[in-house]
Amino acid sequence: MDNVFYRAVNKKLLEVDRGEGIYLYDTDGNKYIDACSGAAVSNLGHGHPVIIEAIVEQAQKVAFSHLSRWTSRPIQELGDLVAKLAPGSLNKLYLVSGGSEATEAALKMARQYYVERDGQSSKYRIISRWKSFHGNTIGALSMTGDKRRKKYTPLLLNFPHIAPAYCYRCPFGKCQDTCQVDCALDLERTIKMEGAEYVAGFIAEPVGGAACGAIVPHKDYFKIIRQICDHYDILMIDDEVMAGFGRTGSMFSIDDFGVIPDMICAAKGMSAGYSPLGAVIAKEEIFNAFKQGSGIFVHGHTYGGNPLSGAVALAVVKTLIADKLVENSRTVGAYLLAQLQEKLLPFSYVGDVRGKGLMLGVEIVKDKQTKEPYPVKMGMAEKLTVTLVKHGVVVYPGTGNADGENGDQFLLAPPLIITKDQVDELVAAMTKGFSEFAKIIG
Ligand code: PLP
Repeated sequence: MDNVFYRAVNKKLLEVDRGEGIYLYDTDGNKYIDACSGAAVSNLGHGHPVIIEAIVEQAQKVAFSHLSRWTSRPIQELGDLVAKLAPGSLNKLYLVSGGSEATEAALKMARQYYVERDGQSSKYRIISRWKSFHGNTIGALSMTGDKRRKKYTPLLLNFPHIAPAYCYRCPFGKCQDTCQVDCALDLERTIKMEGAEYVAGFIAEPVGGAACGAIVPHKDYFKIIRQICDHYDILMIDDEVMAGFGRTGSMFSIDDFGVIPDMICAAKGMSAGYSPLGAVIAKEEIFNAFKQGSGIFVHGHTYGGNPLSGAVALAVVKTLIADKLVENSRTVGAYLLAQLQEKLLPFSYVGDVRGKGLMLGVEIVKDKQTKEPYPVKMGMAEKLTVTLVKHGVVVYPGTGNADGENGDQFLLAPPLIITKDQVDELVAAMTKGFSEFAKIIG
């Protein structure tokens, strides 16, 4: 019975039996609100009849064919639909099977782009930020800026990281009134130090996810980033693996910042957990460089763009639009944020409640005035999330920080189908869990 090598080998896991809407049920019949959509994946909730029908229909036709020889109607239609939804000229969909594969593909695509465009190139580095997560493969981990990378150093690629846009703990000691968006200018400083001739791209999550609990940058942050990338001829890679396809209340979270990136990495919400899929959505100019250059992107994963995942994603994205779930994410998300701020901020150990749409984060602290965090070793956010499970709420497990000391957050990302009544149910259960936790920590 116990021959599975789980990632947290000593952790007791819940045993899932079935799911329905925003709820999951364990094999003992207990009901839980899936308040993190797994890992911000199940955006349409569980057991959606339209998606189940699409799965059955496609599986009866053909589940798998390989992109080395075959394309299929579902992936072509998906490409057309995504091209309409993505900003600017980002209309070329390169399909893979998940988020890490997507960021790896973007890394390689950025490097090869300059070779295709210029004949040869020394541009190979990707700059990223601390308090970021871009995936678990070694290339993606090299770009990641949190504790997950520590056990695997030295990483294959020694990529530079810049300061995060972390307003609650501004790395430059500023506050709202004195902010000059130094965290964006840090990119220029780093490019100059590294030499722009060695830098191929800058990657960032517009709203940070797994490594930071939904931090939202200053409204001008990405405008400055875009200008710097243009000035130094560096590709701006937008990692929307978690935030994309409606999670933050816009189709892509970058849409709210008024800039157009050069590539978007997507996964999770694109197929909403019904079949694995990921993608790089590249701008026309990048595609053309490959078309007019060698004609081949040296990168392929066996399951990338299989017809079954294509049909699922097509049905998911169509449902997202038809059921106005991006709008729901925006309005119900704003309501959830306001409710959580009202009910949770009064607890002495809650430092910050933040986020955008239905991508929200809670940061707990030892001292609210000084913002002193609990030592990450105490795993306070993780303990709190275990208490919430007892109250029937499953949130994303607690995350720490790159230096392993500063900050202790968890993420809240319920399915985008959640209603206001269900938000009330969620907030009531969370408030009970937070009260119990207050007693536990004294
Ligand atoms: N990028 C971001 C922003 C993510 O949040 C994640 C996963 O949480 C990844 C990349 C990696 O995706 P996957 O777990 O599908 O490989």
